Amino acid sequence: MITREEISQLIAEYNLKRLAIGTIGSHSALNIFKGAKEEGFKTVCICRESDTIVYKKFPLADEIIIVSNFAELLDDKVQEKLRRFNTIIVPHGSFTAYLSTEELMNRFYVPMFGNRQLLRWEADREKQAEWLRRAGLRLPKTFKNPEEINCLVIAKLPGAKGGRGYFLANSTEAFQKKVGEMIRRGLLKKEDVAHIHLQEYVLGVNVYPHYFSSIIHDDVEFLGVDKRYESAVDAIGRVPAAEQLEIDVSPTYTIVGNIPLTLRESLLPELLRMGDNVQKTAKELAPPGIIGPFCLETVVTDNLEIYTFEISARIVAGTNVGIGTSPYAYLKYGEKMYTGRRIALEIKEALRKGRIRDVVA
Ligand code: AMP
Repeated sequence: MITREEISQLIAEYNLKRLAIGTIGSHSALNIFKGAKEEGFKTVCICRESDTIVYKKFPLADEIIIVSNFAELLDDKVQEKLRRFNTIIVPHGSFTAYLSTEELMNRFYVPMFGNRQLLRWEADREKQAEWLRRAGLRLPKTFKNPEEINCLVIAKLPGAKGGRGYFLANSTEAFQKKVGEMIRRGLLKKEDVAHIHLQEYVLGVNVYPHYFSSIIHDDVEFLGVDKRYESAVDAIGRVPAAEQLEIDVSPTYTIVGNIPLTLRESLLPELLRMGDNVQKTAKELAPPGIIGPFCLETVVTDNLEIYTFEISARIVAGTNVGIGTSPYAYLKYGEKMYTGRRIALEIKEALRKGRIRDVVA
């Protein structure tokens, strides 16, 4: 495991006057780059050739490092180049989608904005649940095996991209039937069946609050909220029930985009406390806790109970709805504040205070 001391040594060799902010070209890269530029940093994009069109049409990347696949981040040559550009990497969802937690923790010798030690807590569903429970959050029930199913459950595949292959079942029999169907449709591999995570399906609406844990200010900020636009689940309501039955549709949750949201103000006290408590617990698990952005994935029921089913201890793509500003960022900062920029601002303040080592790992 790469230690904070090793990262501190790498940073010690950096030219801090020419610091760059880098990330993989996808997910929330435009958000991160725009924010970096607005705070005066250079930007570095690790990009696949076929995606370069994005960074040509939106010219926010000062340096583009072309790779044929993102696993090349593990190559010495690529890491050497990133360090030569004095890059601090901002990890987003594509990092954990293309590299394993072990690879990121053990083989990526470039300073990252964030806490590498927390990756282990985030990557493992059981550990994640323990973290959230210790923080006092309300979680959906989980079922260790399909025989225990006694309510509507959502079946989640490990490492499923965009919720592809998720399905619902309200009994053991229905679960077995669906598993068979999903295998036939090529959405599920036989060997993955044992790793399916069964969670109580909470009937309510999705709410994804975006937080920012500032190490410099020792505070958790609330920067915005989104909900997701998911295919095919958000399309099912447009098909009448009779035809739904005919085509025997199973909802999938592939994320296509995000929709900005404001909440009834009476939900804010609990959501704000949840953010504070998640960071307080994270500090105990792996000091200094979460560095920078994080997001809770919640469902709010009709009696306004908030259930949290996941945490992302990094920037989420949902924060892209706030590029420019969001109502909540506006309330605190006025115009032009959003997660990508808030990250750059934290790095800038850390530099000014001689505390850059406190925000990288
Ligand atoms: P995830 O991959 O865990 O983010 O889940 C993908 C989608 O499935 C979410 O955006 C929700 O729409 C839905 N979902 C996940 N878990 C639950 C749950 N316990 N209850 C209700 N809906 C859920």
